[in-house]
This record gives sequence, structure tokens and C-alpha cells, in this order.
Amino acid sequence: MPEASPSQETILRDYPRLGLDDELQFRCEPGMDCFTSCCRDVSIVLTPYDVLRMKKALQVDSTEFLKKYTIIAYTQKQKLPIVLLKMNAEDKRCPLVTKDGCSVYTHRPWACRMYPLGLAEPKNPNPAEHGFYFVIREDLCHGHGKGSPCSLRNWIAGQGLEAFEMMGASFRQVMLNDFWKKDERLPDEKAEMYVTAAYDLDRFRRFVFETRFFSLFDIDEARVEAIRTDDEELLDFAMEWLRFSLFGEKTMRLKRPAGGEKRPSRAAGEEATAQAR
Ligand code: SF4
Ligand code: SF4
Repeated sequence: MPEASPSQETILRDYPRLGLDDELQFRCEPGMDCFTSCCRDVSIVLTPYDVLRMKKALQVDSTEFLKKYTIIAYTQKQKLPIVLLKMNAEDKRCPLVTKDGCSVYTHRPWACRMYPLGLAEPKNPNPAEHGFYFVIREDLCHGHGKGSPCSLRNWIAGQGLEAFEMMGASFRQVMLNDFWKKDERLPDEKAEMYVTAAYDLDRFRRFVFETRFFSLFDIDEARVEAIRTDDEELLDFAMEWLRFSLFGEKTMRLKRPAGGEKRPSRAAGEEATAQAR
């Protein structure tokens, strides 16, 4: 369930660093005296794939999902907007929790699946820096030390995280761009495109299918059909688009105009982006 929020400094300094072969002894099931108490007053940062899964589970459009269930905010240290699950104003409970547990359990977010494990990842891949797991212990959670010990590897496998890891790979590529090392924030129009492409997939689909997008970019017909009908294909495509439109990476190929000269990529990207608004 939710991810508590110890500071990064505290995690790096004080938390034991665990690997996949280390063990966790933890049980979580209906009937425990703490059942669902972790689904209250928490900061759950949603990934693009979390939003895809949850909006499908709730059978709502991504725009409606973002409006009803999330807060989109910049934190002081963030250079880009983050999407947080919005807790109820009156009782601070997650809007998706019921007395029987999570109403979107099969499609619950990555952070909820991971709890009580956290994952610390180095910002830039460097063989000398390894990511590690750590255990979050909170008084409200009574699952620690119960049940049989199992390896983190098996515990994680049991949480259905495989699809989340696979779909997270293309998002990670966006996050690996050197832009994030600079002391800059995304300009507003790029931040808006980032939120649309990464989180508001139904709007992004309209952006590509209801503008001149495909007359500007050379996209294989089979892929066009796949992104028309499959949200996961569309999300992967959106990540390639972000790498192109935010950072000028060569992830998209421009069509050559009939006259011969190739359009400058920046102009084409900006033209297509402008038409989405
Ligand atoms: S999404 Fe589900 S598991 Fe996560 S906090 Fe809400 S109710 Fe709990
Ligand atoms: S054991 Fe922990 S994770 Fe499970 S319901 Fe209780 S508080 Fe939540």
C-alpha cells in the first residue's frame, strides 16, 4: 500500500540496504486490525502506467480520472509536474478504499503494491551506484514480523509488478535525459505536453489522431493501428514523442515533404505540438 515519505537523505544514511535475495517477513490480509489504515493521509506519486491501469479499472477517460482523483503539482525540488493520488478532503482517506479493501486492487498503483518496501534508485545509471530496496516501518502497520519469511524477489513477484516494470522502462528513458541534471524547469508549454503525453492518454490520442501529426511524422501503419486501439502501445509511443518534443532526441522520423527538403525537426515538433492545443 502507500509509500511513506522519509527524506532521501534519511533513506541513504540510515536505512539498511536490501537486495532481492534478502528476506522480508510481512503479512497483509483482510481481518487484520490495521486493515486499510495505510490507505489514509499518504502521498502516493502515480506513474504514467498507474494512471493507465486505474482509469481503465474505473472505466473513465484519463482527463476525468486526473480531474477527479489526482493533484498535479510541482514540489520545490521537482523540475517537472508530479501526479499525486488525491485523498478525500473530509477524512483524508484514499477515495478508492472501501471497508473491504482497495476497490481497484488488481490495478492498484506501483507504490501501493510495493509497500512496505521502498526502492531507492540512483538518478543516473552508474555501475558504482546500485539501487536498493528498503523496508518502511510505520506504527500504523501491524504486518511486520508476521507470516513466513520470503525473499524480496518472491515477495515482489507476488505483487504483480512485472507489467509495471516493463511499462516503466520507456518512462525511465525520458527521465534519463541530461536535461534533468541542469538547474532548469520545463517551460510551461512543455510541462503541459509532458502531463498530456505521460498521464492524459485519451487527450494525447486525440492530439495524434485529430491533428496533422501523421502528415508530419513517418510512422509505420501497423504501429498507427496499434496506438489507435491499445493504450499500452500508445503510452510507449507517447514516451518516444516526449523524448523528441522535449529534448530533440531522434526518436521520431519526419516525413520528407513532396518538394524534397527535410523539415527541421524542431519546427515540425513545435507545429504538431501547437495543433494539440
Ligand atoms: S489505491 Fe488502493 S491500495 Fe492504494 S491507497 Fe488507495 S485504496 Fe489503498
Ligand atoms: S498490514 Fe500494513 S499494509 Fe497491510 S493493511 Fe495493515 S497497515 Fe496496510
